[in-house]
Amino acid sequence: MKKQILVIGGGASGMTAAIFAARAGASVTILEHGPRLGKKILSTGNGRCNLTNLHMGAEYFRGGEGGRAAAGFVSQALERFGVPETLAFFSGLGLVTKDKNGYVYPRSEQASAVLDLLLTEVRRLASAS
Ligand SMILES: Cc1cc2nc3c(=O)[nH]c(=O)nc-3n(C[C@H](O)[C@H](O)[C@H](O)COP(=O)(O)OP(=O)(O)OC[C@H]3O[C@@H](n4cnc5c(N)ncnc54)[C@H](O)[C@@H]3O)c2cc1C
Repeated sequence: MKKQILVIGGGASGMTAAIFAARAGASVTILEHGPRLGKKILSTGNGRCNLTNLHMGAEYFRGGEGGRAAAGFVSQALERFGVPETLAFFSGLGLVTKDKNGYVYPRSEQASAVLDLLLTEVRRLASAS
């Protein structure tokens, strides 16, 4: 029997988690309380969606105690899914990107291109399951 996974929140993170879980063979349901999946993506990067940064590093993250990132957590996350994996993931979805001084955007500079490709993959996996 397939693993059943419930992803709560259909933003960029939730959709990406759902895609990876479904590709690994799980049966995935995304529970989104907003009107549509990935709505916030459209307003990221001033409508262009800054996917990643070629100079990504744990030192650029803030949060946790004293405003410092939980460095161990961020480092571990970036080791497992850093810039190369991010670029490969989006390239695999069919996204062509451009680099502006290390800031990576879709070549179209349209955040909607990122959302459309994520939604297409979510729907493809849903129809294949
Ligand atoms: C103005 C602005 C510009 C930004 N630009 C960039 C950028 O260029 N590049 C970048 O990487 N990041 C940018 N960010 C940060 C960006 O918002 C996050 O990187 C990204 O949206 C985070 O995605 P997420 O899925 O973690 O969260 P969200 O996009 O917030 O998604 C969470 C989802 O969960 C849903 N949800 C929450 N609670 C529940 C619940 N209880 N039940 C069901 N559903 C629930 C919400 O409705 C939402 O759809 C920007 C943020 C802002 C505000």
